[in-house]
Amino acid sequence: MKNTKYIFVTGGVTSSLGKGIISSSLAKLLQARGYSVTIQKLDPYINVDPGTLNPYEHGECYVTQDGAETDLDLGHYERFLNTPTSQENNVTTGRIYQSVIEKERRGDYLGKTVQVIPHITDEIKKRIRLVAKKYNYDIVITEIGGTVGDIESLPYIESVRQLKWDLGPSNCLVVHLTLVPYLPTSGELKTKPTQHSVKMLQEAGIQPDILVLRTQKKLSEDIRNKVALFCNVQISSVIESIDAFTIYEVPLLMQDEKLDETVLHKLNLPANQKPDLGPWKEFLKRLKSPKETVRIGLVGKYVELHDAYKSISESFTHAGAANECKVDLEFIHSEQINENNAGQKLGHLEGILVAPGFGSRGIEGKILAARYAREHDIPFLGICLGMQCAVIEFARNVLGFENANSTEINRRTPFPVIDLMEEQKGITTKGGTMRLGAYPCRVEKNSRIYQAYKKELVNERHRHRYEFNNKYLKDFEKAGMKAVGINPDTNLVEIMEMPEHRWFVGVQFHPEYRSTVLQPHPVFVDFVKATISLVREKNKTMKQQEIKEAERNLN
Ligand code: GLN
Repeated sequence: MKNTKYIFVTGGVTSSLGKGIISSSLAKLLQARGYSVTIQKLDPYINVDPGTLNPYEHGECYVTQDGAETDLDLGHYERFLNTPTSQENNVTTGRIYQSVIEKERRGDYLGKTVQVIPHITDEIKKRIRLVAKKYNYDIVITEIGGTVGDIESLPYIESVRQLKWDLGPSNCLVVHLTLVPYLPTSGELKTKPTQHSVKMLQEAGIQPDILVLRTQKKLSEDIRNKVALFCNVQISSVIESIDAFTIYEVPLLMQDEKLDETVLHKLNLPANQKPDLGPWKEFLKRLKSPKETVRIGLVGKYVELHDAYKSISESFTHAGAANECKVDLEFIHSEQINENNAGQKLGHLEGILVAPGFGSRGIEGKILAARYAREHDIPFLGICLGMQCAVIEFARNVLGFENANSTEINRRTPFPVIDLMEEQKGITTKGGTMRLGAYPCRVEKNSRIYQAYKKELVNERHRHRYEFNNKYLKDFEKAGMKAVGINPDTNLVEIMEMPEHRWFVGVQFHPEYRSTVLQPHPVFVDFVKATISLVREKNKTMKQQEIKEAERNLN
């Protein structure tokens, strides 16, 4: 058993400072120095997991390989570290209380009064140490959700205080992320909010070891000295985190600030191996110098909140860089697409993605988007509900199945081309009951999507209750929409494509959960490639028209 080291990342002043990105960047640097690292997120809400949350509340729900419905920060952890997370990497207050209450009912605490301290804090500490124990990591970084001072995160903060004692100073440290706002009227950076939030941590019994200061402007030596003095940390432990061009630049900025060296020094770990960030820098170079631009529309119903589609937009960043092209992602509200304006909303795009989702709101707009892509030979990717919409559209407008639908939307449709999975039929509770996590998919060799995967057996992550209804498969295949990915164990359709189309793919799974900086997902890479070919074709036609125009003018 290793002597695992623990790093806690807390946040102060405001939420949304990017604790997830700082945690991921630090983890990346430590990983690049040869350490095995994982990141865990502790969320202070009472839901047992975010699976039951509306995306407007908390952004996308990210799904791990082993089928946990988790916070979207876990997506960042995987995209940065290129290693999978698991059930243990996301813990909520709801889950902590659930297991303590279950133990109480079983009689495990018989005779005792069950209390926040020690029972809840013990359970929290157990969950923090479980990740290390199960997977034997050198370093576990635990991000504490919320902002220091919130009532609901108090038990987490108290657990960190206790663990600092239990483990001793060189085995555990606290990195506190705060904001140093710039006041344009006085032209100054202000440290007072940071001082206050550190004081709040100190009142809870925790002296942060390192302060990471989010800022719009460079921090002067004076500011750093002041923060060090007032917050009781060494000057080398005051780290600047300035606004970056992309989140993927943050590891390099943190390296410049020596965050990794400071951490290793405090944890008594050797820092002799220089971080190997070659492939990461290669990616950044491609990301920053694209050769062309494509416009892709993301059609969904939660588009007001871009975080609701975080993994999809990041997958496009990875796939764009892989193709040396910039993806201009346009968020299009599916409720605003109708028969009359589809051309105006979608006509200028080189790619259309119909997003995952649940329920009937905005569904007809998604179906129209799939239709527009099919009829105008625009590259199309439908993910989960997006694939189901493409199937419904094809049934209605190509097969002539009037009122075809998914039984999720219309239980009495005469053509249930998408129907509830057999295994879902007896299930009535909502939390954690979907088909979740990774399942195998056999890819038809003679297909377009095989060109992307170059593999016959793939594993992809799922989150759904409904499926393609195999009763209609022959009708679809005869008319030109083929099932080219099938689950070998259950025969469920996982990938549909239209061989006659430029690039038209629907996937029942979520490829976006598996795309990372170092391994962009092949489905996204190939989709973007198809959009580039359309851009080039458009450019060529435009040039030809210009030449013709010029010739006409000459004559
Ligand atoms: N609502 C659909 C289902 O449950 C699709 C889910 C999704 O897009 N993740 O099958």
